[in-house]
Amino acid sequence: MITSVQIKEYAYSLGFGACGICKAEEVGDENRDAYEEWIRNSYQADMDYMQRNADKRCDPVLLVEGAKSVVSVALNYYPEKKQPQDHPQFAYYAYGKDYHDILKIKLQQLFDFIKSIEPTTEGRCFVDTAPVLERYWAAKAGIGFIGKNSLIIIPKKGSYFFLGELIINLELDYDEPLALSCGSCTRCVDTCPTKAITSPKIVDSNKCISYQTIENKGSIDENIAPSMDNRFYGCDICQQVCPWNRYAQPHSISEFNPSEDFLNLSFEKLDNLSEEEYRKIFKGSAVKRAKFSGLKRNLETIKRNRK
Ligand code: SF4
Ligand code: SF4
Repeated sequence: MITSVQIKEYAYSLGFGACGICKAEEVGDENRDAYEEWIRNSYQADMDYMQRNADKRCDPVLLVEGAKSVVSVALNYYPEKKQPQDHPQFAYYAYGKDYHDILKIKLQQLFDFIKSIEPTTEGRCFVDTAPVLERYWAAKAGIGFIGKNSLIIIPKKGSYFFLGELIINLELDYDEPLALSCGSCTRCVDTCPTKAITSPKIVDSNKCISYQTIENKGSIDENIAPSMDNRFYGCDICQQVCPWNRYAQPHSISEFNPSEDFLNLSFEKLDNLSEEEYRKIFKGSAVKRAKFSGLKRNLETIKRNRK
């Protein structure tokens, strides 16, 4: 019989920075209501997929038949080497190869390990690609707590972590949520340049620079554009100001390291970037989500901010 301790030890050996396990059960009313209100307020902007599959999002048994446990994992992406400050800034998570691929491989290895001891285990790996309330599960599994910036904050480690989940039909020992919170701190709320954090843990994507520069397929909102400064792809401000991120330590995942070509992307380089160079530099990167035309749009926007 495999134990929760064995699963966690193996997760750490794979390079995960945190692993917690909780019971797979329907999301409580408070969290379901918060999600539904977020949708009612249209804070998902045009990310229509966020409003689909509400039932599956709130009940893991609808995602995995016979689900008993959620194994939640976190993988550090805090970079050691950063872009020069005067270059158009990418969010740290986008520095290296696409995290979906890297995280999925590690989660599958964890799943294979479980199956090697419990061959009848069935389940699925999730990495930001299915309707899963990943921060909710991470908090329930005791990995960290949800900060006012809406991100999972891992004690003594910070918030620069990708999250993933394994939902399986195996009963295990469960962790408790942490008795921690932001307390009276409001740094992220106060520092967000677009006031996108409308109340603790609630972010209006319409106002968020991350949404505007990555997910938004149309023009960048004229009310948001001047606040972007030189934030070119994503935004880390509400993490950079968080006191918990003083604990952030560089990751050790070679695939997340930025290439020299990436680190050399100055305004001028980006301005003259051909589509062929774009494809070469961002091969296998999550940045491709914004497409070449999206990056050019972002560049034109932040160029206006320099004038
Ligand atoms: S990512 Fe940037 S714009 Fe979005 S909530 Fe955080 S600080 Fe505000
Ligand atoms: S900056 Fe302060 S309020 Fe915001 S998430 Fe961090 S601890 Fe919480």
